[in-house]
Amino acid sequence: MTFAGLQMRRRKPTKDMAQRCIRTFYEVVPKIMKIIDSHMHCGNQNVRLPFETVQGYLREDGIDGACLFAPVEDIYDRYDYHFQDSLAWINCRQKANEYLLNLQQSRTDVFAYYFVWNDFKKKELKKGYKGVKWHRHEDEPVYHYDDPLCEAFLQEVYDLQLPVLLEESFENTCYLIKRINGRTPVIIPHLGMLNGGFEALFRSGVWDDETIYADTALASSWEISRFLEKYGSGRLLFGSDFPFGSPGQELQKLTRLTIGSEDLESVVCRNFLRLIKAIPRQDHPAC
Ligand SMILES: [Zn+2]
Repeated sequence: MTFAGLQMRRRKPTKDMAQRCIRTFYEVVPKIMKIIDSHMHCGNQNVRLPFETVQGYLREDGIDGACLFAPVEDIYDRYDYHFQDSLAWINCRQKANEYLLNLQQSRTDVFAYYFVWNDFKKKELKKGYKGVKWHRHEDEPVYHYDDPLCEAFLQEVYDLQLPVLLEESFENTCYLIKRINGRTPVIIPHLGMLNGGFEALFRSGVWDDETIYADTALASSWEISRFLEKYGSGRLLFGSDFPFGSPGQELQKLTRLTIGSEDLESVVCRNFLRLIKAIPRQDHPAC
């Protein structure tokens, strides 16, 4: 689906709905201190998603922080399978990533992921990004997995222990997970919806691996419940995939589940902070 198509499909929550959602959340978990949306797109070049817009949603929905990545539209031409890189695209990509890094450096409620493309600029990773966004759909231009730069980039990711948010075809998802081989955590967004589907990943045993995480963005309540029942709450992250999903509505999906407050707190905050090493792995403080 295109960005415009999803925008049209998406219904903006009314203020009333958002308030109802917040009330419900605090009734369920009165002591919760932080909620972090671990999957939001933000950028101000080829699509208009400036941080001010993101911030409005966070405030309205009672969300305390956000992990941000650039919109795909600022990284490569997703509509051209034979896309050729150019200086203009290299600059656009650099600006898109830096925009988020600058936000992270000036605020305590923003966490920036580096959106990688085929130039595999490993030197960028040391600038302070908290993770890597790796994104491609079946009909979009391909990552050059055989390029030595790709291997060098991955080695840097392992050294820095950055989580990789991986959205790829089913085949390439399995390939890259095997190649990474547990050397750094991998997060599969949407509980696998755009990585071949929840069931296919479930059957292939991908989530049996303790280094594989999932986010809840746009996943069904049934899939979220099934994941929690089978694997517990330690490897699931709350995310909305804004602007494709509404943070308030995506959060409400979690608060409607019958799960304990400790588990909910892990999903909406603690697991993410552990992944980006903001809190120690074994620690259990209120986040
Ligand atoms: Zn996304």
